[in-house]
Amino acid sequence: MSFYVTTAIHYVNAAPHLGHAYETIAADVMARHMRQRGEDVFFLTGTDEHGEPVALAAEKEGVTPQQLVDRNAPRFVDLMPRLNVSNDFFIRTTDRQHEAKAQEVLSLIRANGHVYEGVYEGWYCPRCADFKTDAEAGEDSTCPIHRIALTREKEDNYFFALSAFQDDLIRLYDERPDFVMPRHRCNEARSFIESGLQDVSLSRSTLTWGVPVPWDESHVFYVWFEALLNYYTALSYARPGADLTARFWPAQFHIIGKDILKFHAVFWPAMLMAAELPLPEHVLVHGFLLMRDSSGKEHKMSKSLGNVLDPFVMTDEFGADALRFYCMREVSFGHDGSVSAAGFAARYETELANDLGNLASRTIAMVQRYRDGTVPAADPDPDLAAEIDGAADEVAQLIDRADLSGALEAAWQRVRRLNRYVEEQAPWTLAKDDARAADLDRVLASLSEGLRVIAVVLHPWMPRSTGKLLAALGAEDVALEGARMRAGRLGAISELDQLFPKPQ
Ligand SMILES: [Zn+2]
Repeated sequence: MSFYVTTAIHYVNAAPHLGHAYETIAADVMARHMRQRGEDVFFLTGTDEHGEPVALAAEKEGVTPQQLVDRNAPRFVDLMPRLNVSNDFFIRTTDRQHEAKAQEVLSLIRANGHVYEGVYEGWYCPRCADFKTDAEAGEDSTCPIHRIALTREKEDNYFFALSAFQDDLIRLYDERPDFVMPRHRCNEARSFIESGLQDVSLSRSTLTWGVPVPWDESHVFYVWFEALLNYYTALSYARPGADLTARFWPAQFHIIGKDILKFHAVFWPAMLMAAELPLPEHVLVHGFLLMRDSSGKEHKMSKSLGNVLDPFVMTDEFGADALRFYCMREVSFGHDGSVSAAGFAARYETELANDLGNLASRTIAMVQRYRDGTVPAADPDPDLAAEIDGAADEVAQLIDRADLSGALEAAWQRVRRLNRYVEEQAPWTLAKDDARAADLDRVLASLSEGLRVIAVVLHPWMPRSTGKLLAALGAEDVALEGARMRAGRLGAISELDQLFPKPQ
């Protein structure tokens, strides 16, 4: 089966921050997990490079918009390897092939009778690049998001006949209650549709930084319509000489932030209906990471603690895995949640360094000390095996439901279970008694196999550390079907550096 997952494309004139990292990490967890299941995966991310905010920023700096985006896009391109993200392509909406394909689809929407010419007059926020309804503008005509004065815009536009899709959209939401996930975001999108849809501007005639409207080159497409199409256009040129559209479209998951729900849950399916293209399976909406101000307790983790929530600083100091784990662990996916340097420090120490890191190092050390680095060929403890063996299926089912937090918790319960097992069995005591050699064999085999299984299951969240751990266990295969306790699958045990060392 094919599995296609996307992030929203990142707005190029912002600096990459933790929110961008968060969404990209979530998509990467899904992509890596699906690859472990043997699915044919395509994972897309990229940058959104057109629109008025880019043109305004360029003008302010005295450079062309193209110069601005060429300078800023690499900051997002560079973020991907820093996060150890496995995207299959990075789209820039200034790619010529994207522009041509977007023009093709938008022309098709027009040919199908869903575009007309008219005059638009209304309140407009240049920072949102979006028109506001009178209700949104309020009595003082300010942007409810940016708190800046809206401008009154009147211009000749091409319109997309969105209102004609109201019934079709309601039917979509009736037939596919998980089209938008989680539930509360689905309800929000649905009530927006039920409140009555108005036709929307498809083009701008007072702006030149955009994709030209092919049937009237005095217009450029309104950035949202062209940008949304990136999910579809990328497949047509991501692999030179091959068109992947038939193989991967429609997408299984578009992962987005809650601030762009309307565009993805209303405009996007309507556009695809207008073009007579298949709809994506799910729009998965995450909340915002809110910074808690860290007044009060002091944590002497590092001198750059004050900056620790900058993804570049965090990955430099603690590695991509620690950041990936923290983002997915601290906040229940789909909801807003607080993040803080103190919270990061606490999870790093208690969960990564102690729960997982110590479990790994003491297990490997005991196999080396008591059995010369060879895992005994004993059957694992059946009670323990039953619990550990349930992990792969449970995680897979939770990820299928897009419960990324639940999936990580299910995996982590097994990490804790293995730690309890060590304490219960006390292998260091067994080692003192030659008569109990068989028990020690069984315990060491159980621990080593359990550790291997859990490393495979956790691999999508922490690819680098679990890779190191699996290499030390002599079993580098990360296929999920191998995530079952079977004695004797392990090779020779080798040295393992601390997975999560204490920061300097
Ligand atoms: Zn605004």
